[in-house]
Amino acid sequence: MLWLGIVLTSAFGILLIGAIFQAGWIQRHIKHPRTVVGLIVLGSIVAIPASLAIALADPEHVLPWAQYVIGGVAIVFVGLISMVFMLRHPNLAPSKVRRVLAIGAHPDDLELACGGSLARFADEGHEVMAIVMSQGDNGGDGDIRRREALAGAESLEIAGISVQDFTDTAMSTEIDRMVKVIELAVDLFRPDVILTHSAHDQHQDHHAVHLATMRAGRRSSTILCFESPSATKEFAPSYFVDISSYVDAKVAAVKRHKNQSGKPYMGAEVLRGAAVFRGSQARTEHAEGFEVMRALSSGVGDL
Ligand SMILES: [Zn+2]
Repeated sequence: MLWLGIVLTSAFGILLIGAIFQAGWIQRHIKHPRTVVGLIVLGSIVAIPASLAIALADPEHVLPWAQYVIGGVAIVFVGLISMVFMLRHPNLAPSKVRRVLAIGAHPDDLELACGGSLARFADEGHEVMAIVMSQGDNGGDGDIRRREALAGAESLEIAGISVQDFTDTAMSTEIDRMVKVIELAVDLFRPDVILTHSAHDQHQDHHAVHLATMRAGRRSSTILCFESPSATKEFAPSYFVDISSYVDAKVAAVKRHKNQSGKPYMGAEVLRGAAVFRGSQARTEHAEGFEVMRALSSGVGDL
């Protein structure tokens, strides 16, 4: 019985460690993530001592059916975790990798406006970079908000983020300097697609970043404008990204901005409601909507 007990204990141990390390991925891709992780953890807590008991028991005192039950459960659980690992490292690559540059005014803007899309693009193998134009000193503690912006980007699993130090709430006086920073990023990164704030937004900083991006991206073929909570009723998206599998990823990334957690638009219910609304416009479950400044088909590709 020793070998069976050792095999089962190892299998459940690997399963438990795998589930803990892959919890973020499971949350993003499995429909009922807490139930799945809970079942694995609970199953392991029961099965590991049981398997050890089998390993250490006197062979004559082990009930024959117990081996089969525990063996069967082990096979099911190991099969499940193997499937998760296989899905985690799919052999799928996008037909052409797109470079996406997302530009927001404040640390939480990108997560709120297009977090689901960025998570999806990154997940599908596209290169996603972000620029946040200010630390958001006026709306909270700048140092904390900078760290939260980095945490948000990490949560979305995008390739990189740069947090600039333009003046929160006074960016409209700094447009020329912002144009230079964005131009440099465009020259270095050569994005296929630029995402930024809409002109239909009542926040003066968002408006300023929109203007600066339009000027800096004057030679860029594809510029799409995302929807912030401060978008006006004129915001009219005509390009939609299906984020049905990425709403949880978006909510999780927004939650990283604890400094702003009291704001009504940061709540999971609000985020899900907005995604359902834009999803219904795009005839899908959940979506994020974008206004198209211009879009070249080969630039957008299969985004
Ligand atoms: Zn903002």
